[in-house]
Amino acid sequence: MTLVLNRERFVETMKTQADIGGTENGGLHRLALSDEDKAVRDWFSDQMEAAELSVRVDEFGNMFGRREGARDLEPILLGSHLDSQPYGGIYDGALGVVAALEFVRELNDRDIETDRPIEIVNWTNEEGSRFQPTLQGSGVWAGVHDLEEQYAATDEDGVTVEEELERIGYKGSEPAEPATDYDSYLELHIEQGPYLDANDKDVGVVTGIVGLTWGAFTFFGEANHSGATPMHHRSDAMVAAADVVTQIRRIPSTLGERTVGTVGSVEIEPGSINVIPEQATITYGFRDPTVEVLHEAEERVIQEAEAAAEREGIEVEHESRADADPVYFDDRCVDAVRTAASDLEYDAADVFSGGVHDATHAHEVCDAGMVFATSEDGKSHTEDEYTSWDDCYSAANTLAVAALELANDER
Ligand SMILES: [Zn+2]
Repeated sequence: MTLVLNRERFVETMKTQADIGGTENGGLHRLALSDEDKAVRDWFSDQMEAAELSVRVDEFGNMFGRREGARDLEPILLGSHLDSQPYGGIYDGALGVVAALEFVRELNDRDIETDRPIEIVNWTNEEGSRFQPTLQGSGVWAGVHDLEEQYAATDEDGVTVEEELERIGYKGSEPAEPATDYDSYLELHIEQGPYLDANDKDVGVVTGIVGLTWGAFTFFGEANHSGATPMHHRSDAMVAAADVVTQIRRIPSTLGERTVGTVGSVEIEPGSINVIPEQATITYGFRDPTVEVLHEAEERVIQEAEAAAEREGIEVEHESRADADPVYFDDRCVDAVRTAASDLEYDAADVFSGGVHDATHAHEVCDAGMVFATSEDGKSHTEDEYTSWDDCYSAANTLAVAALELANDER
């Protein structure tokens, strides 16, 4: 018989967490290390203790609960994050944490002893909206980010992560690093994209996460009177920048099927209605599942920026802002998820994640894989984010069955 979770309790637990920092419009406002985050952490800690997990909190606030296995083997790790975007949705992150909790509750109810220990986790500040960067807690834990540097990150009021961890009582005593060697990490998350919904799928088997390249261009033109300067006499930084914006809309369609490109911000100096822009800075980003395409996109956009600057007779400077290679999840984790969905007779599809997740960093530490739940219309990071309880439940069961398989896999 294939394991399934207690649906009623699962839905009830999802609703309970959604009330902590819940908004009038049915969304969630639970920024990292806020009072609401403290409240949901207290609740989660109580739930873990009630499920007889041994709870520990590391010095970066990452919360773990451990259920012992029958044998002294490397544990499996399951989880996601309980923080939210400003006025975000109730599923993003929380679904993965609740599913992990319900899994251990189900094992308890059925008196199932696994070979491997099972740990569940709530990562600190996945969202990166109040404090940057995103995936902060898992990044520190995986050794990708330096602890002291991340403690010093500030929100817009100048409050540091370390101060807030201390204030809410979640600067724990354990080192922010893997407490042991882990066998594998599994994370359930909503898709946050339209693919599963558009194809009427029950659940997604995530095979990897797209890589990205981020950068900025600054064009240096010449400020001048917008009325008195003839058109042929202008060196307009904004016009060159605008050419590049248009190209960034076009480049992806000439590269991969999954390539996307965005200009997310523009800054103009002096920024006056009757002055020709002297300086224009645009930031841009490309994402794709392959490194080659990312390199190609980067080369193309630099060429376009140089050509645009030349047409306008001005200078341009390029700055690289970030680079992340695509992640390819490990076969045994991907297979466990795929087999679980098939055992549960769900209609599943392989998907490549367009957004980053804590699994990106966990993948640096051990084998990793992910399950996606269908997002209606692909909407997320808004109060309108929606996944039906049926879809939440299918994805949670898939996580549970896959986790049980890995927890009994002695390798
Ligand atoms: Zn998330």
